[in-house]
Amino acid sequence: MYIVAIDEEQCSGCNSCTAGCPARLLKFNGEKAEVAGDESECLGCESCVTVCPTGAVSITEM
Ligand code: SF4
Ligand code: SF4
Repeated sequence: MYIVAIDEEQCSGCNSCTAGCPARLLKFNGEKAEVAGDESECLGCESCVTVCPTGAVSITEM
């Protein structure tokens, strides 16, 4: 089980992370990315962490 967090302050709104999430947990609200889904479905692949240019995404294993 993972906790997915996006730091709104750090998110530049590049929208690079949303399309690459295999669990479709990340949505773009027009300005920023946000977690919009069941976090229990996060695979912990860290694709979102890798692609984020600002370090705004963090994944924590519980
Ligand atoms: S770690 Fe993978 S499955 Fe989890 S939110 Fe990021 S891209 Fe999606
Ligand atoms: S990749 Fe990072 S900066 Fe870009 S939208 Fe996602 S969280 Fe925001």
